[in-house]
Amino acid sequence: MPLTVRQFACLSDNYGFLARDEATGRTACIDTPDAAAILAELKALGWGLDFILNTHWHEDHAGGNAEVVAATGAVVVGPAEVTRMAPLDREVRGGDTVMLGETRFDVIETGGHTLGHIAYHDAADAIAFVGDTLFALGCGRMFEGTADQMWTSLQRLAALPDKTTVYCAHEYTAANARFALSVDDDPALKARAAQVFAARERGEPTVPTTIGAEKATNPFLRAPRLAERVGADGGPDYQAFGAVRAAKDNFKG
Ligand code: ZN
Ligand code: FE
Repeated sequence: MPLTVRQFACLSDNYGFLARDEATGRTACIDTPDAAAILAELKALGWGLDFILNTHWHEDHAGGNAEVVAATGAVVVGPAEVTRMAPLDREVRGGDTVMLGETRFDVIETGGHTLGHIAYHDAADAIAFVGDTLFALGCGRMFEGTADQMWTSLQRLAALPDKTTVYCAHEYTAANARFALSVDDDPALKARAAQVFAARERGEPTVPTTIGAEKATNPFLRAPRLAERVGADGGPDYQAFGAVRAAKDNFKG
């Protein structure tokens, strides 16, 4: 039986996600950007909440944990760093598994945006919740990690099957597309960027994306090929990645 995912916009540019194992009705929210929005969504759907699956400790990911737990009694699962923001019931790390009813999530270590960031991968349904590591046409800022660590994390996600549906935690795609076009004139990117701008004009989300689409057009996954255009000197891939990431940090598009 499949996993049903409900996605909703909240805060200024976050997405909240509810994931329901259809076999058992067990339900999780991935991160807690906005407790009121999550509780309203649950109420509208008539769903209870069994788990909070946190990807990292930031306020717009774990800041709503306390309010959601108080309202639902959900069990909080996440990386150890979440305790900087809120208590954890179960600490997980890369290689662990989390069962939501009959649905199995494999925990993937994706440090770089924060040191302990993780992603949740449901291989049977080809779904991944990637927090602030991989975005549509972008990647998270390296607040705590190194280019080497972030590149390694992105490569772990890129190794998932192309068909994998990727739920990223922010609607950053139009800004990401403007940067991507500044460093890459690939036709597939141009076509995708046009679709992104049109979707945003219509007020439509550009999340979820897929691993295949990101491998084809995301400048951070294509970094080794693009590095010379943004000033890297042809070192290892993570250095090329770091140069592209630094160029994005400084991009005024
Ligand atoms: Zn974050
Ligand atoms: Fe975030």
